Amino acid sequence: MLQDIFGKVKTRMNDGTQGVSGMMNKFSTRSDLLFKCPRCGNVEIAEEFEKNLKVCSTCGYHSRITAEERMKITVDNGTFYEYDREMTSKNPIHFPDYEAKIAALQSLTGLRDAVVTGECSIEGERCAIGVMDSNFMMASMGSVVGEKITRLFERATEKRLPVVLFTASGGARMQEGIVSLMQMAKTSGAVARHSDAGLLYITVLTDPTTGGVTASFASLGDIILAEPKVLIGFAGRRVIEGTIKQRLPDDFQSAEFLLDHGFVDSIVTRSQLRSVLSHLLRLHTKGAANNV
Ligand SMILES: [Zn+2]
Repeated sequence: MLQDIFGKVKTRMNDGTQGVSGMMNKFSTRSDLLFKCPRCGNVEIAEEFEKNLKVCSTCGYHSRITAEERMKITVDNGTFYEYDREMTSKNPIHFPDYEAKIAALQSLTGLRDAVVTGECSIEGERCAIGVMDSNFMMASMGSVVGEKITRLFERATEKRLPVVLFTASGGARMQEGIVSLMQMAKTSGAVARHSDAGLLYITVLTDPTTGGVTASFASLGDIILAEPKVLIGFAGRRVIEGTIKQRLPDDFQSAEFLLDHGFVDSIVTRSQLRSVLSHLLRLHTKGAANNV
């Protein structure tokens, strides 16, 4: 039936008529009206898909979401205070066209770089929070991502706050060369000082978390959660297979494989994440606050 609607909408768009005018004002294209799941092929009304937090109602596919959407479904309304909002990249190794690429992405996404950080409450539990956004250069880690995450941990240590960090990344940002690789050590140092202060750090791995981000702060959480079926890894499958000359299991680098092998503590669906996070914060942070 949904396929029929899909076809009708297409016809309506093509024959130049306005259809239901209110609807057409709101949704300018066919793809805005319907969502087709890339995993199972199910087609559903986009509004329903959004109400379901962008999770496929048939197979549970968790679509990638923006940092803004993640904040909206995670933090208590009106409690988010952003850190370092205006921080933006320079071009440390004079990579060709890097400034233009950054500027174009800034105007396209409304972000200054690939991570949003700040403080908030989650079901009344105060915490520092960071969310990476794969729409900005696949959330690769350059100097801005590294510096914002380092400052997030430093402020959280100062204020004795737990940190919740949603990771997603293609890895280090090659346009910043060695400067991007240095961010791995810098962020890891800040995470260690936060941990030494007896404070909680929860990582939520979202699709995809790879490269230098996996090899640094994404893997350093006291508790590591992941959304279902996300890709988590360091190097790509072909690179590893080529190096070790062995075929890897089909589900290699999935959240489920990593749960079975002890790298991930729990897989949590998007609809449960907010309550799981607040529960963990409540369980683990009261003692830390009392030790001040
Ligand atoms: Zn599906």
